[in-house]
Amino acid sequence: MTVATLVDTHCHLDFPDFDADREQVLAACRAAGVTRIVVPGVRATDWSRVLDLCAWHEGLYPALGLHPMFMADHEQNHVRQLDDMLREQNVIAVGEIGLDFYHGDDDREAQLALFEAQLALAAKHHLPVILHVRKAHDEVLSLLRRFKPPGGIAHAFSGSRQQAEQYLALGFKLGFGGMLTYERSRKLRELARQLPRAAIVLETDAPDMTVASHRGERNSPAYLGEVLAALAAVRNEPEENVARWTNANAASVFAFDTRKTP
Ligand SMILES: [Zn+2]
Repeated sequence: MTVATLVDTHCHLDFPDFDADREQVLAACRAAGVTRIVVPGVRATDWSRVLDLCAWHEGLYPALGLHPMFMADHEQNHVRQLDDMLREQNVIAVGEIGLDFYHGDDDREAQLALFEAQLALAAKHHLPVILHVRKAHDEVLSLLRRFKPPGGIAHAFSGSRQQAEQYLALGFKLGFGGMLTYERSRKLRELARQLPRAAIVLETDAPDMTVASHRGERNSPAYLGEVLAALAAVRNEPEENVARWTNANAASVFAFDTRKTP
């Protein structure tokens, strides 16, 4: 059986979790047909690590951003640095950025200011955005309408059908990952069954959000086929078809083939 070619639209392959065996993980990806991986940066201090990793490996594509869960690490001048990086470097998206009000919203104003500044940069540099959103879909949607970045992905989507449709209306895709492989993810599976094909992209979010078969272990982009299998099963479609249209969706967000040459 030929292995379907797959795109992991969200994987933190630069994290130290992979330092001991990153090359083996990449070899496992190739064997599993995972040929393209988007690696989003989350802090300014990590950006050069993300860029180096992607420069040295075919099929790895860097995104750069300031993640809302690392507010303590972000400094005033990082947004200006990001502006420079987006102009000078070979970057495929702005991300991972967003709003996270899961643990309350003590830093609400700071998160909003940072997110707005990065949305403005995405619009300025004509780059899609990779969004991290928890307990903040309505705020994020209204800011997307205001800043109009050229599309992107709401990663690890777990909102309502109505919120999903608002993202789609704005030209966004929704990222589905390991959660889909759990039987207990009823609401999420039902959403994945109902959404139009044009809505969905695959992701692992490795090292987090492990698939059911590797529960409790580190997640790997090489397990993306299990997410594909779960999605194909809930939609009652052949895996190869689902692979084809999810790849096409990913390619409609990210300009994989037209990156600037370094
Ligand atoms: Zn992430």
